[in-house]
Amino acid sequence: MIGVVYLAAPDNSPWAWGLYNAFGFASAGAVVLGVRRNRPRRAGVWYWFAAALALWAVGDVVYELQYFSWDWESFPAPADVPYLAAYPMFAVGAYQMIKGRISGRDRAGLLDAAIVSTSLSLLSWSFLMRPIAIDESLGLLQRLASLAYPAGDLLLLIMVVRLLTTPGARTASYRLLIAGICATLVSDIGYAVINMFTLYTDGLLDAGWLAMYLLWGAAALHPSMRALSEVAPDRAERFTNRRLALLAVASLLAPIVLVVQGLTDPASIDWAAIALSSVILFLLVLWRMAGLISRVQDQAAQLRALAHNDALTGVPNRRAWDLELSREMAKAVRSGERVAVALIDIDHFKRYNDTHGHPAGDRLLKEAAAAWRDQLRAGDLLARYGGEEFGVLLIGQSIDTAVAVLDRMREVTPQGQSFSAGVALWDGHEIPEQLVARADEALYEAKHEGRDRVTAARAVAPAR
Ligand code: GH3
Ligand code: MG
Ligand code: MG
Repeated sequence: MIGVVYLAAPDNSPWAWGLYNAFGFASAGAVVLGVRRNRPRRAGVWYWFAAALALWAVGDVVYELQYFSWDWESFPAPADVPYLAAYPMFAVGAYQMIKGRISGRDRAGLLDAAIVSTSLSLLSWSFLMRPIAIDESLGLLQRLASLAYPAGDLLLLIMVVRLLTTPGARTASYRLLIAGICATLVSDIGYAVINMFTLYTDGLLDAGWLAMYLLWGAAALHPSMRALSEVAPDRAERFTNRRLALLAVASLLAPIVLVVQGLTDPASIDWAAIALSSVILFLLVLWRMAGLISRVQDQAAQLRALAHNDALTGVPNRRAWDLELSREMAKAVRSGERVAVALIDIDHFKRYNDTHGHPAGDRLLKEAAAAWRDQLRAGDLLARYGGEEFGVLLIGQSIDTAVAVLDRMREVTPQGQSFSAGVALWDGHEIPEQLVARADEALYEAKHEGRDRVTAARAVAPAR
């Protein structure tokens, strides 16, 4: 409301100025009110913002006094002191808010923000700060004060970028706050750019600063402000195409600046700044990519483990069994080593489940797999074939030794339980399915003969 009246008021009338000031102080007041009303956990964040907004409002008043009463012409002027002092206060508040939003580490977000900030710093330096820094017509104090504004804006810009890369709630208040900082930046940078070519009188950009006051106040008053500095629930970070595009543009800015300088004024190419930011960008992007690659590698290892191991017992599953069996048989063709396969089936497991409950049955499967595994050598394989059936693959053993190994395993079956097993020795020609089928037949025999035993499969009929 006040804003609309202000913009409608005649330019530079004391009326308009008064309204503008009211707006500034109201904004700081609104932030304090918002804290009182919404009671965020980190109230300090908002008090830094309120103090900074109040400083800007004070700066506005001093600026008007210079303009109307003191006829102040030179730069820097007294108003620049509160104006400039507000930037670090905003930054401190934003920094604390960012810290509140990340739990532990957020290396990916930090690196992304660093990458974008590096290229924005180069832009700011090349187009806003360097022309001031090398301007011989300015005195030292003027130069420093003129540099302080783009430096302050850069600080705010970096905070926005970091805020945007944090996880955490993107509430209405969050959006208002980001919009508020952006309104500040657009007006500030617009002011700097206009001043580079002509002298800023007023009007146009005031709308931006007014919007800034309005948005900061609204961000604090909105009830969702409480979630702003809260830790985000752990969300799996996704590397989106948008993020990729952002990083690509950020990394390309340095060469683009070089091209622009080369085309417009080759004599003034700022090789030092461009080279330095390129090196930093290179390293940051590499670091970021290293993080992504190691995450992918970790996930691949996890996936492999998940795909190959049985979830309950932890031993290899049926899929792994099939793969291993074919691989070992192919190896044995070359080495000439013997391959024996056994199928194990726990006796009366249904009864065990019915008596002790399904969870106890699960526990038995787990303990049994561990106990059996202990009886095998490192090169042997124990796999869960399905249900309460397991497969055993023994390399380099005779059929008698294989039966003896299985008997040992049978004896260590936990909870006084037993199993029946069939063992078959590979004839060197069978395909895996045929070998397993023979072991299965032997298992069937063992069950028939009264369970709790290991039966060797008959040798294959001589080849026709
Ligand atoms: P037999 O001596 O003839 O092998 O009798 P059995 O009861 O062991 O044979 P059957 O194949 O009829 O029963 C197997 C049982 O194993 C049925 C099923 O409920 C149980 N079972 C299969 N997988 C699991 C599992 O993962 N956990 C538990 N607790 N039970 C399972
Ligand atoms: Mg069974
Ligand atoms: Mg059984």
